[in-house]
Amino acid sequence: MCGDGMPLKLGLVGIGKIARDQHIPALAADPRFELVACASRHARVEGVANFADIQTLLAGAPHIDAISICTPPQAHFEAALCALRAGKHVMLEKPPATTTRQIVLLQSEAARHGCTLFQTWHSRFAAGVDAAREWLRGRTLAAGTITWKEDVHHWHPGQQWIWEPGGLGVFDPGINALSVLTEVLSEELFVQTAALEFPQNQQAPIGARLALHTQASVEINAEFDFRQKGEPTWDIQLVTTSGRLRLSRGGAALEIDGRPLEGNDALAGEYPRLYARFAQLCAARRSEVDWRPFQLVADAFLVGERRIVAAHQV
Ligand code: NAP
Repeated sequence: MCGDGMPLKLGLVGIGKIARDQHIPALAADPRFELVACASRHARVEGVANFADIQTLLAGAPHIDAISICTPPQAHFEAALCALRAGKHVMLEKPPATTTRQIVLLQSEAARHGCTLFQTWHSRFAAGVDAAREWLRGRTLAAGTITWKEDVHHWHPGQQWIWEPGGLGVFDPGINALSVLTEVLSEELFVQTAALEFPQNQQAPIGARLALHTQASVEINAEFDFRQKGEPTWDIQLVTTSGRLRLSRGGAALEIDGRPLEGNDALAGEYPRLYARFAQLCAARRSEVDWRPFQLVADAFLVGERRIVAAHQV
């Protein structure tokens, strides 16, 4: 809600898979928001004003309060900058940008204009994540693994942008695992080594292995792969000196010492919780930006060995 108790008037930019699967349904169910406009070059949304891009949206619907950006990361910076400069609150899909400096610049632009920048990590809002963080608090980590594997043809049908520079390849889903890990661990992490597999005809990796170290030198091994067939595996396992935890289904299911505590489907409830958080942040005119997951991915590109593998057809 705005200060006057009215719903925040919101414009959605980039009408593709995630906008239709999650953002539009979450907004329709949330009385704190009213979806009034969309910007997309090819798509239209029934019942709202439609524009080709964010510039024409901002000019044609100047009364809106907030913009939610669902384009691929290569278009995030320009759209977020335009919206912030027009004095609008911004909710930004992950991955936040294509370079680390862009995130810093957006953060200072939001502060300059007194607007909220909510740089989201949707997997942090998965059902098991809060309980995992609480359980880990005060425990001593001994080892960990991340296994994040899915069939790119099923989950990213026809998405050429994933393979282009800035598209991140397998780190587009893999960064979700890193966002959860950085949320639940109290220790900071860094990339010790990385090996990245690039299809010979693409600009982004199809597979990656990372050795992440905590400041206490505990190693967490991460494996990301886009070549898995059938069901995806989105698992994080953490072993402590007093029990072990498994987050699966992207953070929606939690087991402690083999005993299930949470058991939701992947993505269930994440976007309603994201918009609830965005409403709170807008009301308080505060920003939320944590780019550590993006730094870990950027560092993997900096130190990673590069291996060329078989061509991949999108
Ligand atoms: P998508 O299906 O490709 O949709 C993105 C839309 O953005 C496109 O349909 C396109 O619509 C528009 N767009 C604007 N500039 C573009 C550009 N330079 N290249 C390509 N499209 C452009 O992608 P998505 O899966 O919705 O993902 C969008 C963002 O959400 C990504 O950052 C992704 O990581 C994140 N995300 C995706 C999922 C998921 O399950 N798919 C889950 C969580 C987060 P027009 O052509 O009409 O402009």
